Amino acid sequence: MKKEERVIPYKIYLEESEMPKAWYNVRADMKTKPAPLLNPGTGKPVTKADLAPVFCDELIDQELDNDTRFIEIPEEIRDFYKMYRPSPVVRAYYLEKKLGTPAKIYYKFEGNNTSGSHKLNSAIAQAYYAKKQGLKGVTTETGAGQWGTALSMACAYFGLDCKVFMVKCSYEQKPFRREVMRTYGASVTPSPSTETEIGKKILEEFPGTTGSLGCAISEAVEKAVTNEGYRYVLGSVLNQVLLHQSVIGLEAKAALDKYGVTPDIIIGCAGGGSNLGGLVAPFMGEKLRGEKDYRIIAVEPASCPSFTRGKYAYDFCDTGKVCPLAKMYTLGSGFIPSANHAGGLRYHGMSSILSELYDEGYMEATSVEQTKVFEAAELFARSEGILPAPESSHAIRVAIDEALKCKETGEEKTILFGLTGTGYFDMVAYEKFHNGEMSDYIPTDAELQASLDKLPKLQ
Ligand SMILES: *Cc1c(COP(=O)(O)O)cnc(C)c1O
Repeated sequence: MKKEERVIPYKIYLEESEMPKAWYNVRADMKTKPAPLLNPGTGKPVTKADLAPVFCDELIDQELDNDTRFIEIPEEIRDFYKMYRPSPVVRAYYLEKKLGTPAKIYYKFEGNNTSGSHKLNSAIAQAYYAKKQGLKGVTTETGAGQWGTALSMACAYFGLDCKVFMVKCSYEQKPFRREVMRTYGASVTPSPSTETEIGKKILEEFPGTTGSLGCAISEAVEKAVTNEGYRYVLGSVLNQVLLHQSVIGLEAKAALDKYGVTPDIIIGCAGGGSNLGGLVAPFMGEKLRGEKDYRIIAVEPASCPSFTRGKYAYDFCDTGKVCPLAKMYTLGSGFIPSANHAGGLRYHGMSSILSELYDEGYMEATSVEQTKVFEAAELFARSEGILPAPESSHAIRVAIDEALKCKETGEEKTILFGLTGTGYFDMVAYEKFHNGEMSDYIPTDAELQASLDKLPKLQ
């Protein structure tokens, strides 16, 4: 390592005064806007009135706003952000050394809060707007548990009631996540449940089912629309969530700009696309405006490959088909991925914004197998000290692979990746990996086709 490179600190933190005061809405710079959500009843683009029973008013405005470039972050939200932000951009010196690569690797670390992931960035915003509207509370679903945890923290802060439908297998396998949510005052119901009509119907049809994310969404939406003073909130996929998560990219860019660092490659894991969309937002903006070019790579699990093997089409966001239709890269709303340990990456669809950008060639996507992901996770933990979430480790895998390519070619590329969270609640997955019991189930073309054949018939 050359000495002068050390001028860049191991961790770059912004000053409080340098923190973003507005979120960046990448849609403002997209020539082709993401396709609108459709009302499942009429097949027409949703209106504010369609969404009002389900979502908070100001969040609907953000959802439908394709034009406002910067949206001010309300002071109350900025105050909350100060509790755990700015998050550091870290130069992975020790990982670079271990790999023997000439590449420079940076990561933006979002795991420094109790919920352990970036999801708190949007949870606090959504809770704020619910409170501002005078609501009693919000409902949501959680799969792996990170979103439910983040939302329960945000609701506790603003004194809102929080009802979480937690996918049953996760409820049973991750009792500690559940207890964190209850510590923050949320009520947690295993889904499917008998608390909703849709839950009862699913239980009748599939007794003994351990649930799915799409099914928990249907339950949470029903609970919101049938209870006075409640709305539904979602932790990924939606435009508003990518907007809130732009705080990740804005901070990362400001930190790197401060030291004159420009990434060549930006990498993030992609479940519903919110952390990746947030991390890349300001960089993508420059790319869309023709000011700069970056290689942007989405990483998904081989077991749930929405970008790399899905279809760009209108699909339902939930199993119960109560939510609007979204145009996105999808594997079909009935697709249930094999029990993958990267729980947060198991959604069948993908953000409409990222889907459009990917379709237009502004970004690439790749998929990786589980065991390779955990090999990367372990190498990262042993060199950088942080125990990464399995989801985040998808990005680590590809960052390492790109750095190893640089080792072969001798290129000194600069790589930035999103380290979305920590993996303390995922030790069962690590245990399976260490015991050699982890497998890489990759769906066959026939399985994917069977699911895609059931996409709603729209032109
Ligand atoms: C939820 C989650 C993800 C995936 O969600 P996106 O919306 O695609 O960002 C990734 N990492 C962690 C730690 C998560 O909790």
